[in-house]
Amino acid sequence: MSQEIKLKIKPKFAKEYRAGYPLLSKDAISNLNEVSVEGTVVKLVDERNQFIAKGYYGEQNKGFGWILSQGENETFDQAFFQAKLSEAFKHRIHLFNDVETTAFRVFNGEGDGIGGLTIEYFDGYYLIHWYNKGIYKFKDEIIRSLQAVTEYKAIYQKKRFATDGKYIEQDDFVTGEKGQFPIFVKENGVRFAVYLNEGAMVGVFLDQREVRKVIRDKYAKGKTVLNTFSYTGAFSVFAALGGAKKTTSVDLANRSLSKTIEQFSINGIDYEAQDIIVEDVFRYFKYAVKKNLKFGMVILDPPSFARSKKHTFSAAKDYTNLLKETIAITEDDGVIVASTNSSSFGMSKFKGMIEKAFKEMNGKFKYLEEYSLPSDFKTIKKFPEGNYLKVVFIKKIKG
Ligand code: SAH
Repeated sequence: MSQEIKLKIKPKFAKEYRAGYPLLSKDAISNLNEVSVEGTVVKLVDERNQFIAKGYYGEQNKGFGWILSQGENETFDQAFFQAKLSEAFKHRIHLFNDVETTAFRVFNGEGDGIGGLTIEYFDGYYLIHWYNKGIYKFKDEIIRSLQAVTEYKAIYQKKRFATDGKYIEQDDFVTGEKGQFPIFVKENGVRFAVYLNEGAMVGVFLDQREVRKVIRDKYAKGKTVLNTFSYTGAFSVFAALGGAKKTTSVDLANRSLSKTIEQFSINGIDYEAQDIIVEDVFRYFKYAVKKNLKFGMVILDPPSFARSKKHTFSAAKDYTNLLKETIAITEDDGVIVASTNSSSFGMSKFKGMIEKAFKEMNGKFKYLEEYSLPSDFKTIKKFPEGNYLKVVFIKKIKG
């Protein structure tokens, strides 16, 4: 049996961990230097040596590891992981049964009981993300568990445990029959080209599924749509399929042009009737103002943090400004879809930014609806940071 190390939790943190908070932080531990090998099983005890919970050591951003169990005699063997996976699969039965959607998340880290691990499903292919070296030490048990609970064409993996969750470049194939990429998956009937062996990003962010659907089904018809930070143009494709008059996709990355053309094409949309622009969004805003362009719908889905040649963008600091620039080029009665995946602030602060932006632009608005993570991105109340996605539909009103 692997070695277990006792970690003493400082009094003011003990209550949180007893109540089920899953992320271990350095600040909470008084004998940090007793553990040095990631993947070591750690037993949390209080000042009086009373058992609190059990987990593993693995460095991930500011975290020091994850709690996996409140049971003192729990062992983290294959049976343990298999039970977690099996339960997680049950929670996604409706998606496995949905023939129109063949891409979704089957395991969502601490939301499904194992922080540091996510697994996504792409039409028979599984993609595992290891977010720290500690969880990767359990890879044999976890991969065997996955093989035991499901059939698969192949399993791929992304090691995200270089500093700051950055991806480690390598061949990501694990087992099965190697895929011919792209593979084509479906989401509510719409096709996506997916590449499981080309870096950290595979072509689609699955957490926006509900937002893409409502844009297609309820908002896009007849509108001119500007999709900023557009990546592979997923929102643009849904807008076009929903009857948008025209879409304009703007992204700084060169790859976005060919990837967006591909997305339109595999869905039978003439990409030449759409605008796909490789440019810094903030430069594009200046151009749009100069040309007096106005849009009926603007989608904002920036990364929480990005560095371009000209400047850095941080959602927490710069979202208000991003909105102000957007308000200036949105038609009256137009819709702004403001989205952020930043876990450093919650919905009320996000709405504060929206309200501030409209106030400073002397604009009027109405909230239409809100979205957070879909049910396959399972979260737990004990860890609100895990519920990172905030999407707000806003109507700009003539004022
Ligand atoms: N909205 C996308 C996902 C965005 S990922 C979707 O729904 O699929 C973030 C994207 O922002 C990346 O493709 C990156 O190239 C782009 N990006 C980052 N900074 C940018 C900037 N200043 N201007 C334009 N694009 C930017």
